[in-house]
Amino acid sequence: MTIRLVLLGPPGAGKGTQARQLAAAYAVTHVSTGEIFRGHLEDNTAIGRRIEQYMAAGALVPDDLTWEVVASRLGAIGSAGFLLDGFPRTLVQARALEDWLERTGRRLTAAVNLAVDDEVLVERLAARRMCPRCGEIVNDALRRRTAGPVCSRPDCPDEAAWLRRADDDEATVRQRLRVYHLMTAPLIGFYRERGLLHTVSGCDTPNDVLERIKSILSCAGGGE
Ligand code: AMP
Repeated sequence: MTIRLVLLGPPGAGKGTQARQLAAAYAVTHVSTGEIFRGHLEDNTAIGRRIEQYMAAGALVPDDLTWEVVASRLGAIGSAGFLLDGFPRTLVQARALEDWLERTGRRLTAAVNLAVDDEVLVERLAARRMCPRCGEIVNDALRRRTAGPVCSRPDCPDEAAWLRRADDDEATVRQRLRVYHLMTAPLIGFYRERGLLHTVSGCDTPNDVLERIKSILSCAGGGE
């Protein structure tokens, strides 16, 4: 069975970390709207210039522009599987996705909600760093406590080169959390009503979270 998964959850819940592992495990395309938008900012594209102000303020990019970007990715993926990370983030986006799935005769396998308390997220995001080469996300505070590796690939640069996302400062994180509760949390009910919702605690170790999601997918018919 082809996996088509929506990963829901507040900023910092671990969607990106899980999405990378799951995409590799199930050989499906990882679509992260945040990453796509950051790519446009870096490349200073026309879209990049339109979204800059929203991203810097921790606000959502308008639905029509977001859907335009996602629809073109989904079109390119065709009938293969995908994993949506950071999309949908509003009911309008969720309905646009639902319409597209209906029009193309496809179904979502599941919507997995990673649940984490706000104060834990603020602390986590303050310590979040990203490997500029492979994109792996590391928690600096945790890494120092456990003396773990910077990232899993031996040829990646050392910690002097880690990046901190511009929107991970505390004021912007709190704004992103307000936006999440107002605009994105209602999607939990949306997917529950459709019988697709599964909630997993995002406070467990990344490996435990991954195993939980894999077992959800295998019950939904999409496991290994
Ligand atoms: P993320 O990397 O998922 O935390 O996204 C970073 C930023 O990109 C968000 O704070 C928004 O400004 C923008 N963004 C990402 N995904 C969406 C989306 N589905 N709808 C609107 N804005 C988005």
